[in-house]
Amino acid sequence: MKEKLYTMEVMEALEQDDECPCCHLERKIEQDTISFVLGASYMEDDIRAATDQAGFCRHHTKMMFDYGNSLGNAWILKTRMEYVRKQFSAQSRGRMTAPSSKGRSSFLFKRRKPGAGAGTEEKGENWMRASEHTCYVCQRFEETYGRILKTFLHLLRTEPEFLSKLLESKGFCLPHFGDLYEACERELSPQEAEKILPALHQLMEQNLNRIQADIDWFIDKFDYRNQDADWRTSKDAVQRTMQKLVGTYPADPVFKQK
Ligand SMILES: [Zn+2]
Ligand SMILES: [Zn+2]
Repeated sequence: MKEKLYTMEVMEALEQDDECPCCHLERKIEQDTISFVLGASYMEDDIRAATDQAGFCRHHTKMMFDYGNSLGNAWILKTRMEYVRKQFSAQSRGRMTAPSSKGRSSFLFKRRKPGAGAGTEEKGENWMRASEHTCYVCQRFEETYGRILKTFLHLLRTEPEFLSKLLESKGFCLPHFGDLYEACERELSPQEAEKILPALHQLMEQNLNRIQADIDWFIDKFDYRNQDADWRTSKDAVQRTMQKLVGTYPADPVFKQK
């Protein structure tokens, strides 16, 4: 089966005049996923089995609380807690020994060693630490985001107008540019890379310079000699510079259920 491409979504994101089309898409996927999880889907058995197992990272737990729907949150938490308790008891069984038995008592909290063996014993011992790194929303996001990067690559290779359109945009934030660049290096042929990569570099350099000018003028505006001068494009320079450097929208209001 052919993998789904997100051509319409990518084109729509490029039309937003945003500091980064991937940030725009990321926000949309993340909000859609939170709405999905706390929408009717939390009463569906297969979704709940998945959220019971994966749980949620700290960032998405906070997003779910802020979103509202406390009953929906409560149902998700109830069965996640049941799952965690079951795992906890299974791992604890037979290990309720005194601390004197060679530090065994702290097995649940042991930090994972990088590249630790995959034996059941090892896996079991690190279950609690491992479960800190799984999140239902992050997992769904990563699947979609991977396909979005593929869509960018597909369009860059096959549609010459797409590159021209991209070159008229404001570029990307640094982390998303890094993702796209890595994907390009991995997938493009040497001929394609020769054409596309220098253009992407130039796009980023131009737009980093533009943001620098914005944040510089934002500071200069605080000089009393400039108090009557025009803000130019600097009024929201702080949040846009933050976005350019690390991604996402620091000035966004909390995402809430409508
Ligand atoms: Zn971004
Ligand atoms: Zn997450």
